[in-house]
Amino acid sequence: MFLQKKGKISDHVHFINDPRVCNYLITAPKPALIDAGYTVSVPLLERDISSILGSVTNLFYLFLTHSHYDHVGGMAYLKRVHPRLQVAGHPRIQKIFSNPKALDLIRTLNAQSERFFPLPDAYREKVRIDQLKIDHPVEDGESFDLDNHISLQAIYSPGHTRDGIWYYLKPDQVLFGCDGLGVYTHNGSLMAEFTSNFHSLMTSLRRIQNMEIEVLALPHSGVVIGKKSVQTHIRKTLEENQRYHDRIEQGLRKFEGDIQQVVQEMTHEEYEARDIRQPKEAFMLNLEAMVRVVKREKETLLY
Ligand SMILES: [Zn+2]
Repeated sequence: MFLQKKGKISDHVHFINDPRVCNYLITAPKPALIDAGYTVSVPLLERDISSILGSVTNLFYLFLTHSHYDHVGGMAYLKRVHPRLQVAGHPRIQKIFSNPKALDLIRTLNAQSERFFPLPDAYREKVRIDQLKIDHPVEDGESFDLDNHISLQAIYSPGHTRDGIWYYLKPDQVLFGCDGLGVYTHNGSLMAEFTSNFHSLMTSLRRIQNMEIEVLALPHSGVVIGKKSVQTHIRKTLEENQRYHDRIEQGLRKFEGDIQQVVQEMTHEEYEARDIRQPKEAFMLNLEAMVRVVKREKETLLY
């Protein structure tokens, strides 16, 4: 089953924010939020978290699945109103946050998202991204106790980015993760997401194929419920990444390795024709990254 409606999705997990940018709240003695959405997500995040926990200041953890702009946009706000919040994520994320150029890109892409989701004027100053910081660098396999019987285990899952961490919640058997888990467009087709490394992403996905996952909490588009549906989703995601990879390879052959021409042709084919509702700049940056991934892989094979 594929669920796009907000609400409770397991004993301890609430699906909050908006199906386009899903966030998840784990209710436990140490309440945890998975990812922080866009800057424009803040009014909804604030409202949803407060209605469940009483106040955002009752959060204990914020777990980041990776460093992309649409997953860290609300973080500056959360830290400003709640300085004791423990932000946990892969240690590499701190390198991104300490890089002024990367931080500027996070600001710019968040500002562009305001075209899709208007931000009330009263929030403009509140959501300003000044600095971002990881309080707790997460290690592969590390387990976080949210109570004596509720735990969240970190699984290092590179491929979409180099700083991807997926988190497995016990006893609920819910898996949270980055866009590498597979993202659907608004009209229901899957998108490839190997923006950092194709083979790493395929390995990350194959690693979770044998896990007991009752709920797959996607970072965008919704929630896959039921072990069978989860298996089907993972298989389709593997297939879509393979299809995209092969399409890029074909483009690189046609345009003799010219990255920009492949990006132009595929933007027309994949973005315009499929009516994808993501800022075009972000789509093209992702596509260009994937074309580079495939090109690099071919060049390495020559030696
Ligand atoms: Zn994303």
